[in-house]
Amino acid sequence: MNLLLFGPPGAGKGTQSQFLVERHKMRHLSTGDLFRAAVKVGTPLGQEAQGYMDRGELVPDRVVIGMVREELLQLPQEQGFILDGFPRTVAQAEALDQLLAELKKGIEACVFLQVPHGDLVSRLAGRRVCTGCGAVYHVASKPSAKEGVCDLCGGEVVQRPDDKEEVISTRLATYEKSTQPLKEFYAARNLLAEVDGLGDAEEVLKRIESSLKLA
Ligand code: ADP
Ligand code: ADP
Ligand code: ZN
Repeated sequence: MNLLLFGPPGAGKGTQSQFLVERHKMRHLSTGDLFRAAVKVGTPLGQEAQGYMDRGELVPDRVVIGMVREELLQLPQEQGFILDGFPRTVAQAEALDQLLAELKKGIEACVFLQVPHGDLVSRLAGRRVCTGCGAVYHVASKPSAKEGVCDLCGGEVVQRPDDKEEVISTRLATYEKSTQPLKEFYAARNLLAEVDGLGDAEEVLKRIESSLKLA
């Protein structure tokens, strides 16, 4: 099964992708993770993306689309995937349609995680991530056993630079302006599955699975 997972920053896309990958053997393709990896290594792609990311703005469509194209080209034909954080603009969604047609692949559903604005802010401000393995924590709802140390790999657990309060508001505004219109785009294709993203992460997973008839 091939899925799009979309929703505002902090809605739980990364968290739910992790569950889905473990339970349904799908490949997780997160454009945010790919950019962060490129920034860490200092590739030209990373250098181009970093300023936009630090400001909470979108990386230009042509850069993102090129990167996703490379990733999808490398996937075995039968491998199911979750696109997390892509597409984020109508232009990206149109480019994805073209790319999938070219690769003879399709999307079964576009899952939209619905979370109210106030919860997004507290989720993002409290988010901490492992610099080693990318595991996601939260200072209140999911702290690591030892502060600053990853439970899974012992790596350093830090705050993402774009999870600082000033950048969070830009990201949420960018989402509303550029990404929200995609709801209409996928609703018109009868692919939109709206899921309530509030409550325990395991509860949210069950809702996703039942809306996709995966459970
Ligand atoms: P979050 O999980 O908080 O929504 P991501 O990790 O998906 O954030 O993305 C982090 C940043 O990477 C974004 O703020 C943006 O700068 C860049 N980015 C990720 N995906 C895209 C995309 N599809 N189009 C443009 N920029 C992107
Ligand atoms: P996204 O990828 O959409 O930006 P994340 O999965 O990184 O979102 O989650 C953002 C923050 O919210 C993280 O700190 C995560 O631990 C926390 N979180 C995720 N799902 C839930 C949930 N169902 N309830 C409370 N907090 C959550
Ligand atoms: Zn780790």
